[in-house]
Amino acid sequence: MARKSARRVELSQPAKDRLWSESGGHCQNPECRADLHGFLKRKHIGELAHIIPASFEGPRADEAMELSEDERAMPENVLVLCPTCHTVIDKAPSEYPTSVLRTWKTRSQEARTTAHGTPVFHSRFEARQFIEGLLDANRAVFNLYGPLDNAYDSTRAEQWRRHVNGTIIPNNRVILRVLQANRRLLTDAEKMTLGIFAVHVRELTERHLEGNWTPGSTKFPSAMESILKEDGWESSAGS
Ligand SMILES: [Zn+2]
Repeated sequence: MARKSARRVELSQPAKDRLWSESGGHCQNPECRADLHGFLKRKHIGELAHIIPASFEGPRADEAMELSEDERAMPENVLVLCPTCHTVIDKAPSEYPTSVLRTWKTRSQEARTTAHGTPVFHSRFEARQFIEGLLDANRAVFNLYGPLDNAYDSTRAEQWRRHVNGTIIPNNRVILRVLQANRRLLTDAEKMTLGIFAVHVRELTERHLEGNWTPGSTKFPSAMESILKEDGWESSAGS
């Protein structure tokens, strides 16, 4: 018989508030997204589902040892779901392992940032001003530590890996989000450039953060350097 946890740590009210805000009041299953505001009339906010269970019993309990009791009660380990999805995932843990549930949480957090945490600009100039500092920082890192064509320097390669994770990928994600949210300001040619940039960012992330070296390595499109720079009118009117 499974060993029972002596103590089941309950989520604090601030943790619950944070989870509600993170979910935007919708089920965090990306294929459901049910509106949970109707549940506010009752005491609880939708259903709080532990990714790794709070006790040593229940679905996905084999991974319970990975986290301490306190860690299992942290909002990072909890998903906000509608009652239907909560039942479905707990009944089929092999179909919904912790890796899938973590992806749901990340996607929900990203969706919230895209919808509510991304500036929308009136002009190309304002949008360019916003992304320019990020592009400059990435260019500086690339010039200092980027891979060399004809030589391999292990110290430089180590610095490059560190800066890709700490600077380039985070900056790229912001640039991508801002350009996607302000797509209406882009010319047709710039929308094509954005598409290639999105593939570049995805592949860079897969290689450096997820350790998946199989995807292609689409280069940073050079047209990104001048994106939003011209006033854009001639190029869009002329095409
Ligand atoms: Zn749901």
